[in-house]
Amino acid sequence: MPKNKMRFINDINLKKQADDLGVKVWQTPSFLFIMMGLIAVIVMTATYYISERYNDPRIVVVSESIVVSVILIIGTIITRMVDEIIRLDKMKSDFVSVASHQLRTPLSAVKWETEILLEKENKGLTDKQLKNIESIAFLNQRMIRLVNDLLDVARIEQKRLIIRQRRFDFAKLVGDVFRQFQPTFEERHLEVVLNVKKNLPWAVADPEKIKIVVENLIGNAVKYTTSGGKVETLIYSKDGFLIFEVKDNGVGIPEEQISRIFNKFFRSDNAVKYQTEGTGLGLYIAKNIVEQSRGKIWFQSIENVGSLFAFSIPEAKEEPDKTGKND
Ligand code: ADP
Repeated sequence: MPKNKMRFINDINLKKQADDLGVKVWQTPSFLFIMMGLIAVIVMTATYYISERYNDPRIVVVSESIVVSVILIIGTIITRMVDEIIRLDKMKSDFVSVASHQLRTPLSAVKWETEILLEKENKGLTDKQLKNIESIAFLNQRMIRLVNDLLDVARIEQKRLIIRQRRFDFAKLVGDVFRQFQPTFEERHLEVVLNVKKNLPWAVADPEKIKIVVENLIGNAVKYTTSGGKVETLIYSKDGFLIFEVKDNGVGIPEEQISRIFNKFFRSDNAVKYQTEGTGLGLYIAKNIVEQSRGKIWFQSIENVGSLFAFSIPEAKEEPDKTGKND
């Protein structure tokens, strides 16, 4: 169904809107707007008849004043509701941010402790104990990732996601992420290609955040591609931007769900069946990082054929000899 039609149906589905906003049906903005419209029509018609019947302008003025008062009351209710929604939304973001910060300390402590135990693996640990500690370390790492994602979501909502922009070697950053993924590529028997065009300029953005985007896109290509599949990555320069592309021949995305892929917490039906681990936050965060870095993010996907995800970030403008080009 076309997007506009869907939005119109959602707008007139007052019950759904009331449930979503957690208010009564008569308090939903759409209901109040409809009422405002109806009252305006009724009063205009009534004013017409009154002014035709009574020649006294005072009656017309009084009836007009009543309408204006009703419209003002409804307007005040709407403004208060919007205020309340903004306040609640801010409280929610603050809560997520504080809770995530508080969780980070104990999770880091568990990480250090398990690393110490694993380093001392030869000193009296049985195989079973070792496996248990490895499992704790793995699950702890998953929680750290989730907490970091939640912190990024809170930062996006508080509009303080990207703090510093600087020049950096984008091709090197992608190479580093690739090396980081090497064990996973091997474990899943993937055929992986990294194609970097020669003499690429550096980029201007927040390298730590851009690393998150690259990790997320490569991670997804690996996660949603069956063992033995192929993942191809390409970096090139075009019209003042560096472009990163990653193509896989994995499960793809069902056509009817393509428009929701960057929504917060969205996971496609086939992905949920194929890969239980995932939060649906990675692409939402990636899109915000790229767009706040003055770049674009896009994709093409066909279910059961594969996907191509890509993004662009601005190139550094310096003279060629100062950009530290790649060999
Ligand atoms: P997660 O991977 O944790 O579910 P993301 O935000 O990274 O969350 O991705 C959102 C959804 O987009 C995934 O659940 C999946 O449905 C779809 N998706 C992302 N990348 C791919 C890909 N390379 N192939 C198929 N589906 C993908």
